Amino acid sequence: MSDTNIKVGELVMFIDSKQRRYLVKLAHGDAFHLHTGIIEHDTVIGSEPGTIVRTSGGSRLLVVRPTLSDYILKMRRGAQIIYPKDLGPIVMLSDVGPGMRVLEAGLGSGALSLTLLRAIGPEGSLVTYEIRDDHAVRGTKNIAEFLGGAPPNHEVRIGDICDGVAQEDFDRIVLDLPDPWRALPVITPRLHPGGILVSYLPTVPQVSQTVEALRDHGYGLVESLEVLTRPWHVEGMSVRPEHRIVGHTGFLVSARRLSRDAN
Ligand code: SAH
Repeated sequence: MSDTNIKVGELVMFIDSKQRRYLVKLAHGDAFHLHTGIIEHDTVIGSEPGTIVRTSGGSRLLVVRPTLSDYILKMRRGAQIIYPKDLGPIVMLSDVGPGMRVLEAGLGSGALSLTLLRAIGPEGSLVTYEIRDDHAVRGTKNIAEFLGGAPPNHEVRIGDICDGVAQEDFDRIVLDLPDPWRALPVITPRLHPGGILVSYLPTVPQVSQTVEALRDHGYGLVESLEVLTRPWHVEGMSVRPEHRIVGHTGFLVSARRLSRDAN
């Protein structure tokens, strides 16, 4: 059996002929039940990713390892997630990279945390504030499920980020909060001068208030944008945009903390 083959305990994604996706954690002796029959986990364990298996009813299922994006779209949700189309640009806008110390709020379902953890790698560290116990539980479970355990470089702190952040410095701050302007007085002193803050915001009034507050707190290079993706249907002569697209998720605001002399 090759090392790249699927192992017991792994998460896999089954994709049926109608492109429906199912996330399953493989265990010896378990079975996955579909309306078209069952599939024994043991028939999947040891197989090559990208293979086709058949249910007891004879229907075909493609087996792959979920990408981070697949997992985020399928994982259980407490709070509304940030979608992969925004998560990618957040990594570029915040310029989060290997070894960085990053501050985040709130944890929610953990989609943004998983993305930041991947970007900082094992040498980096992530501190995430979450005000709600139930979201903290859901988010940490999701993160551990995808990574196969709780990552040692991720600290989740239960509480309101506006109540203060311990005396430590961060290279980057990434926020998914309804009212980030309330947090700026306590988080800004914790961000290195030149450090970048990115805030995800669903509505226009939140963008206005955040941008004004960022300028008042000594940030510069403040930019606001939204990310529109338009998937295409490509089949034979039928090559065109999909009929339905996601019209709106949120806006992204990025800014740099300037040194005192700059203000
Ligand atoms: N980015 C997350 C979703 C976060 S939803 C994801 O992609 O999965 C926003 C979260 O912020 C909620 O869980 C909410 O409980 C938390 N929150 C709201 N205000 C907060 C505050 N002041 N301090 C810490 N967490 C807060």
